[in-house]
Amino acid sequence: MTRPLAVIIGAGVAGLAAAWWLDRAGWRSLIVERSSSLREKGYMLGLSGLGFETAGRMGLHDALDACSYAIDENVYKDSAGRELLRLRYRDFIRDLPFMAVRRSDLVRVLFEALPETASVRFETIVSGFQDCGDHVSVTLSNGETIKADLLIGADGFRSKTRQQLFGPDDACLAPLGYSFAVYDVDAPRSFESDFLSYAEPGHLAEYYVLHDGQLAAMHVWRNEMAEAERGEAGFEQLARVCRKSHPEVRAILERAETTGAAPMIDTLTMVELPEWSKGRVLLLGDAAHCLTLVSGQGAGMALASAEMLGNALTTSPDLASAIEKHEAALRPIIIRLQARSRKMASVFIPRGKFAFHLRNAVMRHMPRAWLGRYFTSAIKAEIALARTDGKA
Ligand SMILES: Cc1cc2nc3c(=O)[nH]c(=O)nc-3n(C[C@H](O)[C@H](O)[C@H](O)COP(=O)(O)OP(=O)(O)OC[C@H]3O[C@@H](n4cnc5c(N)ncnc54)[C@H](O)[C@@H]3O)c2cc1C
Repeated sequence: MTRPLAVIIGAGVAGLAAAWWLDRAGWRSLIVERSSSLREKGYMLGLSGLGFETAGRMGLHDALDACSYAIDENVYKDSAGRELLRLRYRDFIRDLPFMAVRRSDLVRVLFEALPETASVRFETIVSGFQDCGDHVSVTLSNGETIKADLLIGADGFRSKTRQQLFGPDDACLAPLGYSFAVYDVDAPRSFESDFLSYAEPGHLAEYYVLHDGQLAAMHVWRNEMAEAERGEAGFEQLARVCRKSHPEVRAILERAETTGAAPMIDTLTMVELPEWSKGRVLLLGDAAHCLTLVSGQGAGMALASAEMLGNALTTSPDLASAIEKHEAALRPIIIRLQARSRKMASVFIPRGKFAFHLRNAVMRHMPRAWLGRYFTSAIKAEIALARTDGKA
């Protein structure tokens, strides 16, 4: 019997993982990716909790381990260079397994693990689709029309599929009031720590030292006026954000600009939708429920939700009930994570001076066991929720 076919838009974390789990459920996939290749370089992300477990069930831990980074502690300095905090990862995650990898490495590992039933077409987008009841007709940018059983929009936070399915984004975007920028840059020789942060009220600059001697740089800043600032060019905006930052922050930024780095800049905005599908079209990953980097679980949930979809397809009598089951299992976890993102944003980047100093004092003096309990109990609760429902 011919396997049912899913067209997946986006060869990112969610799209590639979906193809793997769909194969397990007896499906084949065609992934269309608008870029000409997998994105190289890029930011660092932490994999823990549900996403880490899913990666294990996909047999990816060894491959991820080989490109992972051993990050023990994060040193925080203020704009005068004084040490504010020294946060050890183990204090936060205690006994929970954790891995730090670059997004590009995670995507490469997922790509290399693709089953034979999945193929990828680069430089291709979906120019239109129509749900015909018993199938979905998908037209690709080369004019080809494909008769598919399911169309998955795994095209990230700025998903076009979401807009085509549910209309303009205004109603579903929930900005947290921050912007972020990420870029790679040569590490200065003097760089002293594997993971260094410069924090000041309303702005955080973070640097990871990479295996190739570069730095993965990230800035997150308070930004009520993000939309209005869109006219500003990338480095112009960053120079304004960093004007009072530590000289090393400004020097790294200047170096990035003169060496032609291309910062990716966007707002920290969650996607909140009352439903993630319509008929035979389903959104997955950031396209459906962007959690933002504050949650530290976006990529993890892209992996875990792909697994939940595969399991729902395996155990449901038809597609409609599989989609329903997938959403019912995933939604309570996403609601928890989005509530946490909302709460954690102002702890991560305190708004004003008072909140900034208060946060630092609390973090300095709070018993590490409390910190650990707060983070690990939340992650364990999400794992328990998924065990109740998602892996049925
Ligand atoms: C700075 C930063 C730090 C983060 N840190 C963490 C962390 O520590 N832990 C964690 O778990 N998560 C983290 N995240 C979140 C995580 O990166 C995302 O949640 C995850 O990448 C979402 O995966 P996705 O597949 O849904 O989307 P993406 O990874 O964005 O992939 C979408 C894919 O779709 C493609 N695409 C887009 N439009 C189209 C189109 N029209 N046609 C075809 N293809 C298209 C894109 O080119 C891309 O390949 C972080 C995010 C950022 C920005």
